[in-house]
Amino acid sequence: MSLDDLYREVILDHYRNPRNKRPLEGADIDLLHNNPLCGDEISVRVKLADGVVEDAAFEGQGCSISQASASMLTDKVKGMKLGDVEELILEFRGMMEGKEGPDDDALGDLVALKGVVKYPVRIKCAVLAWDTLQEGVETFKKSSEG
Ligand code: ZN
Repeated sequence: MSLDDLYREVILDHYRNPRNKRPLEGADIDLLHNNPLCGDEISVRVKLADGVVEDAAFEGQGCSISQASASMLTDKVKGMKLGDVEELILEFRGMMEGKEGPDDDALGDLVALKGVVKYPVRIKCAVLAWDTLQEGVETFKKSSEG
């Protein structure tokens, strides 16, 4: 099996069996973004406790890449500190810009999205959930700083 096939399998698995695709009551971060180019729509919701992600969920519709990316994101950030989440978002965006990212072990399933870098029109699909979360984190920090 080639690496591309493996990546595709991982993406399709998250698309067909999305992790954390459900409503989330009482979320601290709750934001919806869409990607008009492709018709993707993602709501990301995160619940925090003492600066740590207690729960994360998403809802939405769109192509397999946008939905798989949201599934991977919500899976990955659970249990992480908010500061680490922000760092991960930057690393992920860097990876999608073709920069050398963190090592594959640190990325887990996210590494499958590396394959998308070769298809520039799909990069927006892959980063949609991440953009949404990044803006949500910024909004949350502003409101909690008062
Ligand atoms: Zn898309």
